[in-house]
Amino acid sequence: MERFAIAIDGPAGSGKSTAAKEVAKRLGMVYVDTGAMYRTVALACMKAGVATAEEAEALSVLNGIDMRIEPGQGGQRIFLDEKDVTAEIRTPEIGKGASEVAAFQKVRERLVEIQQELAREYPVVMDGRDIGTVVLPDAELKIYLDAGVEERARRRQGELREQGKTEELSAVMEKIRQRDEADKSREHSPLRMAKDAILLDSTGMSAEEVVQAILAEVKKVR
Ligand code: C5P
Repeated sequence: MERFAIAIDGPAGSGKSTAAKEVAKRLGMVYVDTGAMYRTVALACMKAGVATAEEAEALSVLNGIDMRIEPGQGGQRIFLDEKDVTAEIRTPEIGKGASEVAAFQKVRERLVEIQQELAREYPVVMDGRDIGTVVLPDAELKIYLDAGVEERARRRQGELREQGKTEELSAVMEKIRQRDEADKSREHSPLRMAKDAILLDSTGMSAEEVVQAILAEVKKVR
């Protein structure tokens, strides 16, 4: 397959990763989860006992770790100092820490480099917050996937339940609101829709309907 990139951006819990993974699988492309990279930096900070909100310290942690990404159609695996941390990074605390380290421009520069390298190497479906705006501004297709905050909170609650954790819907909703606010208002690469992105509101849509809507857009540009 020739070079082809699909960028999927949107707020927390909008269903990006579920959709991106499935679209990648059906099109024989490689799924790249960029949020996992920010999460891994946050995990490394926590392991080192460093606050994720301290720029200099977070950067020195980033400079000292070995982060390896193994992309694949069925999903991406991520390794921190050779340990597979793919599952370990999926907690709300690490999500919050990721949002904090993601505010630092130097952290972003390092991770964006890795992301762009992956897109040079493979046809990718890449999800994140700044893919269409910063990482892959020339992507052939850009989707901005949104959904109402309550629905996003319900999905997150379901994911937590699968991990054996129970949390009140109102608490999950509040955390999502805070993370949206932090991601949209930060100075560097804030979450926003690229001018040439297609807005897809997944509220009330099933995962399969979202996948079909994206595949329909792919057909128009390929
Ligand atoms: O998507 P996920 O919840 O894994 O992302 C965790 C955090 O990483 C986001 O809240 C955001 O602050 C940051 N992020 C980012 N840019 C990306 C992907 C994630 O700033 N491309």
